[in-house]
Formats: sequence, C-alpha cells, structure tokens
Amino acid sequence: MRRRKLTQTYDIAVIGSGFAGSLMAMIARRLGRSVVLIEKGSHPRVVIGESSTPLSNLLLEELATRYDLPSLRPLSKWGSWQQAYPNVTCGLKRGFTFHHHVLGAAASSDPERQDQLLVAASPRDAIADTHWYRAEFDYLLVREAQKLGVDYVDGVAPQRFTESPEGVTLEGLRNGHEVTFRARFTVDATGPRGFLHHALQLGERELPDFPATQALYCHFSGVRRLAETQHSRIAEEPPYPIDDAAVHHIFDGGWVWVLRFSNGITSAGVAATDKLAARLRLSEGEPAWQRLLEQIPALQEQFRSAQVVQPFTHMPRVSFRSAQIAGSRWALLPSAAGFVDPLLSTGFPLTLLGVTRLAAILEQDWQTERFSPQLQIYAERTDRELLATAYLIGSLYATMGNFPVFTALSLLYFAAASYPEAARRLGKPELASSFLLCDHPQFGPACVQLFDRARRCMTPAESDKLIRDIHSVIKPFNVAGLARPERRNWYPVDAQDLLDAAGKLQATEAEITAMLERCGFGAQHSAVMSEPAPQ
Ligand SMILES: Cc1cc2nc3c(=O)[nH]c(=O)nc-3n(C[C@H](O)[C@H](O)[C@H](O)COP(=O)(O)OP(=O)(O)OC[C@H]3O[C@@H](n4cnc5c(N)ncnc54)[C@H](O)[C@@H]3O)c2cc1C
Repeated sequence: MRRRKLTQTYDIAVIGSGFAGSLMAMIARRLGRSVVLIEKGSHPRVVIGESSTPLSNLLLEELATRYDLPSLRPLSKWGSWQQAYPNVTCGLKRGFTFHHHVLGAAASSDPERQDQLLVAASPRDAIADTHWYRAEFDYLLVREAQKLGVDYVDGVAPQRFTESPEGVTLEGLRNGHEVTFRARFTVDATGPRGFLHHALQLGERELPDFPATQALYCHFSGVRRLAETQHSRIAEEPPYPIDDAAVHHIFDGGWVWVLRFSNGITSAGVAATDKLAARLRLSEGEPAWQRLLEQIPALQEQFRSAQVVQPFTHMPRVSFRSAQIAGSRWALLPSAAGFVDPLLSTGFPLTLLGVTRLAAILEQDWQTERFSPQLQIYAERTDRELLATAYLIGSLYATMGNFPVFTALSLLYFAAASYPEAARRLGKPELASSFLLCDHPQFGPACVQLFDRARRCMTPAESDKLIRDIHSVIKPFNVAGLARPERRNWYPVDAQDLLDAAGKLQATEAEITAMLERCGFGAQHSAVMSEPAPQ
C-alpha cells in the first residue's frame, strides 16, 4: 500500500465534521492554530439532530461574534438565515408544542387545555429559532471551515490513535491507502460511541435513574400540518402557529417528534422505553411506525399521505455516557461524551457550551501548564450537565402518563433555560453559567429532589403537591410568566414578563428594555440588526 507522505504536524486534529466539529475547527483556526478536520464520510449527508433552541442560537451567535465568524452569525435566527442563505434549508421554530395522548384512545380535546402545552420561544418569525436541515447546514459549515484554512480530509477510516510526549498520531485508511495525521491535540466530534470511544476503549457509565430507551425515525414528504387536521382544530388563536415548532406528542412510555422544514421534508420519529418499544416492535421499522400512528388518530390523519424519503433508522439504545471525557492530549465534545434523548432539544446547547469552553481553553491555556487541569474541569462539567439532563428527562419519562406533572416538570426546564438566556443577553452570564442551572446552589439540589419525587408513583394529592412545589422552585427564576393559571398552558413571549422579572436578573427595567431592543424584540427593530450583549 502507498503511504500518504507526512508533511506537517498540526496543532489540532478535529475528528468528525458534523456542525460541532467544523465549528471547533473554525474557532481553532481563528485562534491561529493549524487544523486538520477528518471525516469518515463525505458531505452532503443526512444526519439526525435538527431542532435548535434559544440558548443554542444565542451560543452560536456569541461564538460567531467572539471568534470573528461573520458567515455563521445569520444562522442564529430564522430571518437573518433566510436573507443570508436562502438556499440552505431550515425549518421555522417559534416554540415547543406538546400534545398528550392515550395510545389506542379516540381523539379528544380538553377545553381547559390540560392535554397540551405551548411555550413560545420568540415573539415573531424574524427572530425565531430554526430546525437545521443538517445535510445542508453541516455542508455549509465544512466549506466555511475550509475557507478559513482548515485542511479537510474526508473518506478517512481512522483505525489507530497513539499518544506520545510530542502529541498524537492518527492512522487510518483513505481510498485503500494508509494515511497518517499528527497533531499536538485532538478533539473528538464523532458523536456517541465514536472514534476515541473505541480507539481508547474509554468504556461506558450508566446514566442513573434513566430508563433504557430506543428510537425509530425517518424523513418524510407530504406530511400535513397538524393545525389543518380535523382532530386539532382550535377555536382560540394560539401564541404561535402550532406546527412552526418542535412538536412533541406525549404518551405513557414514549413520545413522537415532528419537525417541518421549508423544503417540504418533515423529520419525525418516536423514542420509547424498552417496554413500550417491545410492545410496538420498533425494531421492525416502518410497520412499527404505522402501528403507532394507528393508535394516535391525530397523527394518523396528519401522516395519511406521507411518503418516506429515506429508510427508517432504528436505534436500539439512545442514551450514552462515556466513562472518560478528556485526557491530556484529547477531549470529547459533549456530543461524543454522552447523549440522553431528543426530548427538549438539549443536544445542541450542551454541545455548544462544550465548544465555548474548549475554545476558551485553547484561547487562554494553550501550551501552558494550566491546559491539562482545565481539560479535567471541562470533563467534569460536561459530565455533570449530562447527568442533570438525564435526571430531568428521566423524570419526564416517568410522568408521560401523568401529563399535569409532566407539564410542571417541563416548566422547570423552560425556567432553567429562559433565565440563563436572559442573563447572558444582559451580559451577566455569571448569574447562570451551568446548563439547566444545575450548579446553582439552591435550584440544582431542589430539582434533584423534585425529580426523585416525580419518579415515584403518586396519588392525585401527591401529584398536586409536587406541582405546587415545582412552581415555587421555579419562582425566583421565572422570567417568562410560566405557571400562571390564567394562561392555561399557553405561554406567549411577553416583554412585560421580563420587565416584571428585572429584579430576579439583578437588572433595572431600563437594562431589560435596552436588551429587548438589541434582540430585535420590538417591531421597530430588525432582527438582522440585533446585537449581542456586551461581553
Ligand atoms: C434521534 C435523535 C434526535 C436528536 N434530535 C435533536 C434535536 O432535535 N435537537 C438537539 O439539540 N439535539 C438533538 N439530538 C442530538 C444531536 O444529534 C447532537 O447533539 C448533534 O448531532 C451533535 O452534532 P455533532 O456535530 O457533534 O455530531 P454528529 O452530528 O454526530 O456528527 C459526527 C460526524 O462525525 C463523523 N464520524 C463518525 N465517526 C467517525 C470516525 N470514526 N471517524 C471520522 N469521522 C467520524 C460522522 O460521519 C459525522 O459527520 C438528537 C439525537 C438523536 C440521536
């Protein structure tokens, strides 16, 4: 076999060119490092993991500003994305829509809206979040990385990874030829159970109190809008069009997601506990999907004319936690270090927080004696945030059959997501630096207790008490008017809620008003013009 001639030792090798690997590679280049980005496949390619959130878009915007990546900034909002990249597909995400179902039961609708939850994430389309059509989004990022001088090599099957005092060596095959890459440091962005997990035999750890789950998913065309089906006609005007959202259909033991893209493709799938997955025989693929639809009339009607546009994928195990996250010459991105569940779209923000932290280490500690200790701190935080996510989502799985409690727990998530977002936008990230506020001295431990209670079987009285206790834990962090009974599970984005909560954010009303204007909140401000908070 011919050996590719080694010409260079890179500062950094990034393995895996999903959006996170390309982003990491771009930042490292902007910090003056030489970078090789190594991909086993080639772009464009279809991958799952599509729905962004306010926090993930804010983190993307912050990274684009801090590391001078102007081509990425427009991707943090629907409106600016449409203007800058009209040919790169995405979906409009105005909020999180939840509908509760009893499998096999006739469709019904509660006038008091006890069977639904709508949480808006943005007041209008221009500044809304998006679903990333990853085939096109990831391809765009890899091309942007190349423009910055990242050496991108695809079609590589890496096989061996060795460390020495000088750095790391990665050997593999490309088009039948041996290839070798040398670097001082490696970032693994190859996803769960990825390259270093196998090459270094890192091992797995359990996610405590999280059920074993499976998933089955696909891309479709011809999916109707839920709002247009006869099962879902609503008399009142919802806070946003219910389909322009991450739509969640919840039932005991599992849930279905539906995400619409602007190119007519809809991403949909189901995640379920092993028990329900066995009952639905998810491993059989498409027939299992059809069996599930038959048990949910609204979804059956919505998917009646749908066509599959790629084969179904069955994931026999969804969650993952690596036993090790960093060494002295390598680190796993959070998306390679673990995964819990697609519920609530926690994958992107966790990954982008990890990219933010690794970028800061590369910026401040490269080739200093602080580098290794900082990597270990990164590893501990990554694992802690993964565990906090698993506690939350484990408790949501436990209550999928008890929707009022599920709703209250979800509000805990929305409080823990909207408070840090507002704090960061105000230039006060120190108020809430951990994901889901898990390191907050009061909120973190209080949540663990609430999640423990939620996992136990509850009488109706215990459920009511738990809901009341959740609402009082939320209170000091509630900047979005959550849990107000008169809203009957529909939460619009209302500037007054933030103004009323100024004190909770240690801010004045004037600061909140200025922040809202910067974010393009008012109709007079264009989202494209909005600026992030001062760092
Ligand atoms: C079913 C499902 C649904 C999800 N939905 C959401 C969601 O809606 N919102 C959300 O925030 N998160 C979601 N996630 C999580 C989300 O997918 C991840 O957070 C995200 O994909 C991480 O991106 P990434 O770039 O790090 O890795 P990936 O997207 O996993 O990309 C990894 C890249 O590495 C390459 N690669 C793999 N192995 C090797 C190797 N050995 N050598 C070289 N290259 C390699 C792959 O080809 C790929 O290009 C979901 C996850 C699943 C499983």
